[in-house]
Amino acid sequence: MAHEARSAALRELFAPLVGALGYKFTPDQELADFLLEQEAVLEETKGAPYCPCQVRTHRREHDMTIVCPCIPYHRAHFDAMRRCWCGLFVHRDVTDPGDLPQIAASELGIEG
Ligand code: SF4
Repeated sequence: MAHEARSAALRELFAPLVGALGYKFTPDQELADFLLEQEAVLEETKGAPYCPCQVRTHRREHDMTIVCPCIPYHRAHFDAMRRCWCGLFVHRDVTDPGDLPQIAASELGIEG
């Protein structure tokens, strides 16, 4: 993994932040490693660990809402799914993330 050291640092940085919000890293280790590496690449190339699963608009106001962990900006949506959009984080009590589908906010009647 090319960005292994930074991925590990992001993991340590994020764990307490999402823990305070009632989330934890997905138990799907392979997915977590993949997403963290993508974030390390985005941080290096774009200046911040942007979400690998959401589109940047290049409007700062919007793009700051998709810097990981973006949970505070999308709380109602993510709480309804019990996972974040990428699935990097899940609610603390989740043991099988495969049971949690990715559902658009609009389908849940939530403003994303
Ligand atoms: S959806 Fe998940 S992985 Fe993507 S930025 Fe938000 S918290 Fe991070």
